[in-house]
Amino acid sequence: RVKMEGRNGLRFFSQDMQEHSLRALEIASSLKQADMDREFHMVFQPQMSIADGRFVGAEALLRWVHPVWGNVSPGEFIPIAEQSGRILEIGTWVLRHVAHQMRQWRDAGLGDFSVAVNLSALQFVQTDMVKNIIETVARAGIPSRCIEVELTETVALNNPIAAGQAISALRNAGFLVSIDDFGTGYSSMSYLKRFAVDKLKIDQSFVRELGKDADDRAIVSAIVQMAHSLGMKTIAEGVETEQQLAILKEKACDEIQGYLYSKPLPADVFEQFLRDCRQQDGSANLG
Ligand code: C2E
Ligand code: MG
Ligand code: MG
Ligand code: MG
Repeated sequence: RVKMEGRNGLRFFSQDMQEHSLRALEIASSLKQADMDREFHMVFQPQMSIADGRFVGAEALLRWVHPVWGNVSPGEFIPIAEQSGRILEIGTWVLRHVAHQMRQWRDAGLGDFSVAVNLSALQFVQTDMVKNIIETVARAGIPSRCIEVELTETVALNNPIAAGQAISALRNAGFLVSIDDFGTGYSSMSYLKRFAVDKLKIDQSFVRELGKDADDRAIVSAIVQMAHSLGMKTIAEGVETEQQLAILKEKACDEIQGYLYSKPLPADVFEQFLRDCRQQDGSANLG
């Protein structure tokens, strides 16, 4: 630990803090120069209906393979891109890329599902955000119901009225809207009172200990009941075990996303997954 005498008194810098901010600066400057078409790609994580075990949709997740560092996790670079404003261009790239990919799957007869895209709070407050989304999706030639927009609770923090209007505009245009990481924000309840959305994504932190923690079971159960009485669906994130799945089924949660069903898959592997699902559905219909 390094102790420094500042003009305004004592200041403390830990080695760790310095390394942390240096890394953040390096990431910010690399992001600025990044050739998105070369360094970025999307992976797709399948989502399953709990009632019948069938594939129902997917979440598109961004991956950045830096030419020197290799894989940098979105948990690390997305917050930095939000601070620098680069998230706006990244968000545009993500939506265009996903819509284009969806078009290809639909052309191949495999695209009868919706794919969720994460939207950052900064994207969400852009005045032309809804218009841009509508145009991008229309230009790719896919119906808006194929795209689900994931928002976190923080989007409404600064301007709840504008956020409410944007959510309604998206839903009126036919997009699905879900709240990501539900339950971790400061105002989950007031959020629900104000905004009509299609789905709540129950945060991983409530799912992880479902087998051991009675409080988490009570919270999940309450979220599901509340969502259903408000006409919303629920999906549990980060489901890794059969035990968690069994509890979620008992609590009437609608869908799961997690390593138990599938990890996020590169586009070509996901496409094979889609083909396998179709084949299974086909034979189920015949039999
Ligand atoms: P998120 O939207 O809540 O995405 C779910 C995260 O949980 C993903 O991490 C996914 O890989 C991980 N996950 C899924 N199943 C399991 C499981 O069973 N166990 C565990 N331990 N983890 C699981 P990932 O891909 O690292 O993304 C992290 C976060 O980065 C995302 O959280 C999202 O907030 C952000 N992010 C990712 N892609 C994008 C993007 O295209 N745009 C924006 N704005 N944010 C993105
Ligand atoms: Mg998400
Ligand atoms: Mg989440
Ligand atoms: Mg998250």
